[in-house]
Amino acid sequence: MPTDNWINETLYPDWGQRFRVTRELARVQSEFQDIAIFESASHGRVMVLDGVIQITEADEFVYQEMLTHVPLLAHGSARNVLIIGAGDGGVLRRVLQHSNVERAVMVEIDGEVIRLSKQFLPGIAGDAWTDPRANVIVGDGIDYVKRAPDASFDAIIVDSTDPIGVGEVLFTDEFYHNCARILTDRGVIVNQCGVPFMQADELRETSLRRGNFFPHVTAYVAAVPTYVGGFMTLGWAAKDASLAATPLEAIRARAAAAGIAGATNYWTPEIHVGAFNLPPYIARHLPKA
Ligand code: SAM
Repeated sequence: MPTDNWINETLYPDWGQRFRVTRELARVQSEFQDIAIFESASHGRVMVLDGVIQITEADEFVYQEMLTHVPLLAHGSARNVLIIGAGDGGVLRRVLQHSNVERAVMVEIDGEVIRLSKQFLPGIAGDAWTDPRANVIVGDGIDYVKRAPDASFDAIIVDSTDPIGVGEVLFTDEFYHNCARILTDRGVIVNQCGVPFMQADELRETSLRRGNFFPHVTAYVAAVPTYVGGFMTLGWAAKDASLAATPLEAIRARAAAAGIAGATNYWTPEIHVGAFNLPPYIARHLPKA
């Protein structure tokens, strides 16, 4: 953990961020990863998995809002949503803010992440854990999608760690093949796809893979301060190309109907539409349309 009250992120060998630690809250070596949660001087409480910043209380809203509201409002009538990873509960909370969602299944491989998030980061999930529409499963996402019935979900949100270790299977052909099978004919899947300024391979390679199973593949961006390196990308793959081009007025109307309008601190209808307009240094890593 910290030396001299600092913790250094280990994501990149030659560059990184550090946090001044004011209090260590948890340090657990689970069956899958090293889990650390601490109080920071600058960003509230922070969770780190295998040395990589996962979530901070200060800026989690950016990421959770964009990973959740963009696909659900682009779809417009998602009732069954699958969340993979997201052990802190933040995505689950925001999915359940959508009044049209009837079922939110969350599959997190590491029960220790859920347990420690409930204990030390209770504000991230709020009361999502006890929402009657929520079904929280401790298991491997790749196994869940293998067994799930055809056309059983309208949207899949993959909030996983990077494609190393346990997260690696969530970026494979097998995974995307089954995701395409279990999504409905207007289904969409989004996934955290790294910071392309530093992790362009993650966006390029996983977008090519998704293109083998989905007719429309693109990405959208969000500026998450603690995912260092500029914009982070959310990978997008859909069976209906029109979803990513949903007009501003439709997004605005759907947000109002779903109870999202005015309940966000980063997402807005204009940010939603604008997020798909990628700077060339990012767009060049996507499959040619
Ligand atoms: N927002 C973070 C980011 O972008 O790096 C991710 C947060 S969330 C804590 C990542 C979660 O993915 C972790 O709790 C990890 O246990 C989970 N995860 C990794 N591989 C998984 C798998 N194969 N199935 C289900 N959950 C997985």
